[in-house]
Amino acid sequence: MNLVFLFYFFVLGLGLGSFYNVVGLRVPVSTFLKNKRSICPNCFHSLSWYELIPVLSFLIQRGSCRHCDQSISRIYPFIELFTGFFFVYSFYIFGFRPELAVALTFVSLMSIVFVTDITYMLIPDRILFFFLPIFLFLRILVPLEPWWSAFLGASIGLLMLASVIVISRGGMGGGDMKLVGLFGLVLGVKGVLLAFFLACIYGTCFHGLQWIVNKQGRKKPIPFGPYLVMGALTAYFYGEMIITWYVRTFLTFTL
Ligand SMILES: [Zn+2]
Repeated sequence: MNLVFLFYFFVLGLGLGSFYNVVGLRVPVSTFLKNKRSICPNCFHSLSWYELIPVLSFLIQRGSCRHCDQSISRIYPFIELFTGFFFVYSFYIFGFRPELAVALTFVSLMSIVFVTDITYMLIPDRILFFFLPIFLFLRILVPLEPWWSAFLGASIGLLMLASVIVISRGGMGGGDMKLVGLFGLVLGVKGVLLAFFLACIYGTCFHGLQWIVNKQGRKKPIPFGPYLVMGALTAYFYGEMIITWYVRTFLTFTL
């Protein structure tokens, strides 16, 4: 594995992660094009290039604005590192095989969804419909095995979440539904089922923990997007392994 390429994908991920923060924070409030320059949301001071270096600026300024001392959300360096890490990991797994294009696009969508859902509790249609034709195109060029798994997976994802929305009476939103539809396109039938199953497990574990630790936070609604993101990434990178392990461990005994 070439270290230069690993480093390159890490830096690329950090830089794009910084951009995905901006996309995720601005698209839901429609200010994507109005403020071309980045500003401090508290004192509105325009930020210089040295205040916009991924992760480093946050560390050097000790997590606060240089002008007004307002603390900067930790989501910024988190998403930068998240994108950087998964870009490197995608390259580590796929090298320069065509699936790398799918992996990098998928990680990008995951970063943006993480930001919008944690910040605004929503997953904007504009983001989802931007990625839809890209994934369609990619899954035609880089098909799953069998090729129709992507399309069946997308339909299953949409139907599954639609039923959850009906049964839970709005416990999940239309954004979650369309997102899981996209998961199906990328992950296929088995992958989308596994992703949703894992998201529920992650959600239950983290929320259960929060329920025990923080008594005030119990009634607060939780964004489900970050759990869907974690479930999808686990299914994408480890799906085959998990399913093979599961079948070997549990199903061979009963057969
Ligand atoms: Zn400021």
